[in-house]
Amino acid sequence: NQVMIETVNKTYPVIIGEGAVNAIASFVDEMKQKPTRLFIIADESVRTIHGARLESALPKGIPADWHNVPAGELAKSFSVFEQCLTRMLECALDRHSLVVAFGGGACGDLAGFCAATYMRGIPFIQVPTTILAHDSAVGGKTAVNHPLGKNMIGAFHQPEAVMYDTLFLHSLSEKETRSGFAEVIKHALIADVDLYHDIRVNVNAVTDIASSFLEHSLKRGIEIKGTIVKEDEFETGVRAHLNFGHTYGHAIESLSGYGNVAHGEAIACGMIFALYASASKNGLSFDISSFASWLKGLGYPVESGTAFSFDDIYDVMTRDKKAFGGTVRFVLLNEIGHPYVTDMTKEELQKIDEQFRKEAV
Ligand code: NAD
Ligand code: ZN
Repeated sequence: NQVMIETVNKTYPVIIGEGAVNAIASFVDEMKQKPTRLFIIADESVRTIHGARLESALPKGIPADWHNVPAGELAKSFSVFEQCLTRMLECALDRHSLVVAFGGGACGDLAGFCAATYMRGIPFIQVPTTILAHDSAVGGKTAVNHPLGKNMIGAFHQPEAVMYDTLFLHSLSEKETRSGFAEVIKHALIADVDLYHDIRVNVNAVTDIASSFLEHSLKRGIEIKGTIVKEDEFETGVRAHLNFGHTYGHAIESLSGYGNVAHGEAIACGMIFALYASASKNGLSFDISSFASWLKGLGYPVESGTAFSFDDIYDVMTRDKKAFGGTVRFVLLNEIGHPYVTDMTKEELQKIDEQFRKEAV
């Protein structure tokens, strides 16, 4: 089961399914330039749970060095980045060595950035282990955080391949599963109304999604992301549509102190907000209340937006890089599957915020 991602300089496979990690050895064997060494950058908790499976899937006969990084977002710091590069130099990696990213989006972003910058760029493979990473492992955005801003220091660097083994997903916590699944819902809303309806029918609890359906919807999500990346690899246009739900969502994520409300949980609130805005600005016909109560039933903390005043939320949204003048840049929908970018004024936003508090919660 695979999806091909086409970019300007490279076309690469995303291999998805139970046991997909076992495709690494043959993929590496068939690389035109055989890697001189492997360097596995692993989220330390993921390695504890699943390291043995990756280890036994690696090609034999190529020296492999492992390097653990802190679990989750802590991996995306300058000091961890520097430690990785130090180990890479000590292990004498050269231009033909291959970095393997093993973990969720955080580890993938860090490892990708290490690969992008070591000797001005060496190849890497993504072995994502979260639901969210169906999004982050595809498309070539890599980054670390700066104390002044998340993902502010990074590079575009596409992987050679993505091995997305869905067996890794069984050990995710309910919160991580819920968070990641919000991005699947996002992909459906911006590009595939049928997928959206299928998700509504098939998903009644995030911990109880049939594995065949989960795999199907992750694959569709990857195809959708791939189509957008092909059209706009460097985000000068339609790639911004992937920010659906993210303007308001980021504000809630940030105000609630990163981590309390997980990224995707905040994005779920942001999608509700953007749907109200779409209905008010261009008459989107969509049952937003039913969508919001379905999300609540899945455990998304829809009420988290109401913990903050509109002024605080607006302040954070205007600080976001999407803001121009007093207006805030939003991705809205003309209809499900048809996103566009527009600027919203403070007055418009305040009205939507009132509606959100009255109707969604
Ligand atoms: P994450 O990588 O922070 O992992 C979350 C937690 O889950 C961590 O504690 C991790 O140890 C644990 N974990 C990972 N896999 C597990 C597994 N299989 N079983 C049990 N525990 C597991 O979270 P994430 O949601 O995957 O990624 C979030 C990051 O992705 C953010 O830094 C965000 O900026 C980035 N991101 C990047 C892109 C992109 O295009 N590059 C897109 C979206 C998000
Ligand atoms: Zn997101």
